[in-house]
Amino acid sequence: MARLDSIQSLQNKGSLAEWRLDLFSRIDIAWMQTLLQDSSGPVLLTVRKSSQGGKFQGTERQRKGLIRRLLALEPPFFDLECDTSPRFIREMMREHPKTQFILSYHDFSKNPIDLERIYFSMQKYPAFSYKIAKTVNSTNEALALLLFAKEHPKASVICMGKRGEFARVLGPVVGNLIGYASADSKRPTAPGQLNAATLNTIYRYPALNQQTAIYGLIGDPIEKSRGHLYHNRAFQTLGLNAVYIKMKVKPKELPQFIQQAVAIGIQGLSVTIPLKEEILPFLDEIEPKAQQIGAVNTLLFKEGKIRGTNTDGLGALDAIEKRALVKGKKIVLLGAGGAARAIAFEAKTRGADVLILNRTVERAKRLAADLGCQGGRLDEVPDDYDILINASPCSMPIDPKKIRPFTLAMDVVYSPRETDFLKQAAFTQCQLIYGEEMFLNQAARQTAFWLKQ
Ligand code: NAP
Repeated sequence: MARLDSIQSLQNKGSLAEWRLDLFSRIDIAWMQTLLQDSSGPVLLTVRKSSQGGKFQGTERQRKGLIRRLLALEPPFFDLECDTSPRFIREMMREHPKTQFILSYHDFSKNPIDLERIYFSMQKYPAFSYKIAKTVNSTNEALALLLFAKEHPKASVICMGKRGEFARVLGPVVGNLIGYASADSKRPTAPGQLNAATLNTIYRYPALNQQTAIYGLIGDPIEKSRGHLYHNRAFQTLGLNAVYIKMKVKPKELPQFIQQAVAIGIQGLSVTIPLKEEILPFLDEIEPKAQQIGAVNTLLFKEGKIRGTNTDGLGALDAIEKRALVKGKKIVLLGAGGAARAIAFEAKTRGADVLILNRTVERAKRLAADLGCQGGRLDEVPDDYDILINASPCSMPIDPKKIRPFTLAMDVVYSPRETDFLKQAAFTQCQLIYGEEMFLNQAARQTAFWLKQ
């Protein structure tokens, strides 16, 4: 159980503390009374039965008896499950007008539910909020629940499970009257629940409201991305009422995702693998450079249109040109995927001589042909280059002996920071550029694209 002082400190900041009494081995009503009286902020009491995901051990009759005794203490908030007997719910609500009731519905299954029907059946009781907690299996499912909350002011939706994490952040943005976080960082009380420290420090949860602009990352995988750390910090520094969340989206989910992203009012997105090309058919406008590259990593939703741009190449070249201009320099690029493509185009635009080497040689040759340069195999690293860039996720894609001493060596991978490639380059006394620097540069350019349009 989280320490009392950490709960009190959260309450002092305006949070509601939920006491999940079904998790207690013994409940002393006199102690509960003292706790309610001494509480530094509002309290919500819950005694959840097992069919609703709770751990209450006794019979339903014993549970109702306990609820009666607890409600006699007049707690500010009380959670009652909507499948408790209707007579009991009505009686409790009638007899305890000073308590605000959260009427709750939980579904831990992976099956779809009829939200309208559930919400309609809950509304026969005069509750403060109607809470629908559902396990979600995809970003699209979570967005559908969030849209429901946006359209129904007294509904609070809780998206349980890993895929629902981002939706827990967006609760206040869609008008949820209640949201949940664990006070203890190591022990969530429901699947996918974030802890209060993460919500407050990274996402600035207490400051979020229905005017907050939503930005985020889409792609798969997204776990390693640090975009949420960078962009939320940037919004805070700029004094913007905006939040950035990470959403796992697969190519086949894009049509529904885009429709729901527009409906919920998303204003901008970062796009990562494998969606940088897959997203193109959904865009109304593509910046000329991104059009040339054939991939985007940034979207702006504005005035009913979706515009795309690509900041990857700019991010990488800005980092390199902080050390040395690339005009007239020979760059060897390892990889021919999305990142390599964006870097190669930008390097060519800035006047570099680019050689593309890739595991799949045909892909290197195709990209080289698009750019009007040379392509080849990974074992064809020449001796006379100025800059070597690893644009593949492989930690060491070439023979380490091929790294030329005293040149500039860059890796696009930023997690881990020290790749084998950079370790070897450091050993041969190259000047190093970490993937992190490219990441920060391209992210800053994304912020600018979102805000300066
Ligand atoms: P991608 O489109 O999937 O391309 C991957 C490239 O790496 C391909 O050329 C692939 O060769 C090559 N490759 C993959 N595994 C390899 C291996 N084991 N040995 C040798 N070559 C290998 O991916 P991407 O979008 O270009 O991203 C590449 C990396 O850059 C990712 O790790 C990504 O996270 C990172 N990135 C970083 C930033 C940043 O801001 N720092 C921005 C964008 C991307 P084949 O063609 O033979 O498959």
